[in-house]
Amino acid sequence: MMGVQHRSHNMTTHPHGIPSSANSLSFIRSELTSLQAYTPHPGGPEGQSVAIEIDRVDTNESPYDLPLALKQELAQIWVESIESNRYPDGGHNRLKAAIASYVEESAETHPPIIPSQICVGNGSDELLRSILIATCLGGAGRILVAAPTFSMYGILAQTLGIPVVSVDRSTVNFEIDLKAAQSAIEDTKNPPVRVVFMVHPNSPTGNALTVAELEWLRSLSSDILVVIDEAYFEFSQQTVVAELAERPNWVVLRTFSKAFRLAAHRVGYAVGHPQVIATLEQVRLPYNLPSISLAVAQLVLQHRSLLLSTISETMSERDRLFTALNTITNLQVWQSDANFLYARIQGGDDPDLAMTKLVSQLKIQGTLIRHTGGGLRISIGYPAENDRTSSRISSHLAPINKI
Ligand SMILES: *Cc1c(COP(=O)(O)O)cnc(C)c1O
Repeated sequence: MMGVQHRSHNMTTHPHGIPSSANSLSFIRSELTSLQAYTPHPGGPEGQSVAIEIDRVDTNESPYDLPLALKQELAQIWVESIESNRYPDGGHNRLKAAIASYVEESAETHPPIIPSQICVGNGSDELLRSILIATCLGGAGRILVAAPTFSMYGILAQTLGIPVVSVDRSTVNFEIDLKAAQSAIEDTKNPPVRVVFMVHPNSPTGNALTVAELEWLRSLSSDILVVIDEAYFEFSQQTVVAELAERPNWVVLRTFSKAFRLAAHRVGYAVGHPQVIATLEQVRLPYNLPSISLAVAQLVLQHRSLLLSTISETMSERDRLFTALNTITNLQVWQSDANFLYARIQGGDDPDLAMTKLVSQLKIQGTLIRHTGGGLRISIGYPAENDRTSSRISSHLAPINKI
């Protein structure tokens, strides 16, 4: 007799009573089972057994929350003008206009940036995915990155089955191996490289694109999309926005998650040619941003001079932390154009193991930093945090120098 096939005999039971059957989920694409997901921020001190104050200098956020007066203004907007039963403004029209004039202010472009050149995403991460869907999906193309760089490009590409071509950077100054990049583009076929992702300035290494790198990007064929991720623009003050008018194959990405202090609200945007932007609009989810996120992004743009006024402190704190870390003999630290520093332990038997150890020692003391791309990425916090970061790092790496 035919009957229902009981599979329970080859399933183990999860502690919470859910059958665990990882190897029998054959409907999942096999490439996803081996993929290493992005390790997100834990979002608070959970998992920390002792209640100590945590210095979260691992995700390059602003150390400062929104001022209370702005939160109250937002609360009032929520109470008085957001109808929870209604879908949000799916066209993002008012926010796009506000972003266009902010971008315009930062670059003085000719002709001026217009709202149809802006696409708003649920974080710029969403826009990265839209770009990949629009350009490379279904075997249409590969992406090119220069490692170490922002890990999301590769992770998102892999989740979509898009192959990633990676070229190296100099271990001295993190400049891209342009010869290797050029041959990768010439030699890669079926599918060819369709998108080049560059962070300006790069994360985790903190260096802005050089004149030679920008020249190389300008020399690329117009059937390659060049994505310049300016997540740290407000700190670096370097932008390629003024070039967009003559380069329809370039897109600039920016975010509200860093200098604008809105990481919790997930708002990012792309600036580019209206036709490219229209395609990104076509592939995005209809109501990708909650009403409250749209409202708070508009609010911070209105109050931008107040909110961005802490940047000069962050920049001088960065230089102060650089000077302090630079005195530690076995730690190499690089100058940065962003709100974080990149450092590597040099020498010893196993620098990578030494860095892993340092990260966990710091974590026990309440300082979270990021071990990525073969080095340590340390965000600039508020002054007392930076003091703790430098004294804790130097106490672990140079105990002999103490006293
Ligand atoms: C932080 C960061 C982003 C921003 O991501 P959101 O999704 O907007 O929070 C984008 N690119 C880089 C390189 C970043 O470091």
